[in-house]
Amino acid sequence: MIPGSFVYEALPQRVIFGNGRRRDLPTELERLGCKSAFVICTPEQQGMARELTSTLGSGSVIYSEAAMHTPVSVTNRALQVLTNANADVLVAIGGGSAIGLAKALAMRTNFIQIAVPTTYAGSEATPIIGETENGEKRTQRTLKVLPEVVIYDPELTHSLPVSFSVTSGINAMAHAVEAMYASNGNPIISNLAEEGIRALYNALPRIVESPSDAKAREDAAYGAWLCGTCLGSVGMALHHKICHVLGGTFDLPHAPAHTVVLPHALAYNAPVIPQVVDVLARIFNSAEPWLALHAMIKKLGGPLSLQAIGMRSDGLDQAAQLIHQNAYQNPRKPELGAIERMLKRAFDGAAPKCD
Ligand code: NAD
Repeated sequence: MIPGSFVYEALPQRVIFGNGRRRDLPTELERLGCKSAFVICTPEQQGMARELTSTLGSGSVIYSEAAMHTPVSVTNRALQVLTNANADVLVAIGGGSAIGLAKALAMRTNFIQIAVPTTYAGSEATPIIGETENGEKRTQRTLKVLPEVVIYDPELTHSLPVSFSVTSGINAMAHAVEAMYASNGNPIISNLAEEGIRALYNALPRIVESPSDAKAREDAAYGAWLCGTCLGSVGMALHHKICHVLGGTFDLPHAPAHTVVLPHALAYNAPVIPQVVDVLARIFNSAEPWLALHAMIKKLGGPLSLQAIGMRSDGLDQAAQLIHQNAYQNPRKPELGAIERMLKRAFDGAAPKCD
């Protein structure tokens, strides 16, 4: 269905996609008029960062202390090092943690950013930054944090462990699912969302079967780009709020939390989003796509319970309160009782239910 009235705002970003395209990095630096990169990664990805940095000028340095949920304390330390480095561009290589730190630094310094994503989280495609301080994750949108250039090289995702490929892929799907019912949605984003979810739906089982299946990795990276673009263009709703609370306040890992919550958040909203349910029903071959998604996660070996990924049972009430206080722009009114029941089902690993 084409709605009669909408607003669509395109984001200014250059995207380079393809196997081996990480080798374009030196040319991209040159195109931007930059000479020395401050290369950001997590401690685990120093090897990848070294490979990439070896193709750049001798003034480039690696900063390998990026951490999940972008703690402000980590950003402050990185800022000191950046101030003393002779760099003129930020290059993030890794998942949302590395890209998040580059965004946090760009917001404070106006440095140009190039992102080289190696997961499916999608942060590189968004002008969103979520930062954690004093046990709370605060999210804001500003074009200052949108990377100017993104280089998707699906070869870099071959080393992503299968279990993390699954959760990261479902994390990407979650961006697209919420974009389809965003209060400021539009047909361009809904089409990207459908295509992105379908690409990941088809790619993830092939990756589980054969983690170095190059075509499956390429399809998943393509899907992740589309889904990230959706998140970057329109608003978030209940699902993302739940995950921000679980990550920011209870320190649950980002992608696994998204994976457990998505079928439940979709079931919660299903009664008020019939057109979105129709689209998802076609992709998941099921009239109840929240159940099909839950079954897919189980089949792929992904987590189904919040308890299994570190949630404390005595935190459920506080989580429900925080979610209820501000469930972002959700299509269904946040109802405390229904949110509590949904969280309990997710905690137990029970099947999602529209209630
Ligand atoms: P991550 O970046 O923390 O990566 C998880 C682990 O996987 C790390 O140890 C990392 O080094 C490793 N890894 C990454 N790529 C790898 C590869 N190809 N091979 C082997 N290991 C690899 O996890 P993530 O889920 O990508 O990102 C989560 C963070 O991103 C959270 O802080 C979240 O809030 C943020 N995020 C932000 C946005 C946004 O738009 N602002 C969107 C999505 C996620």
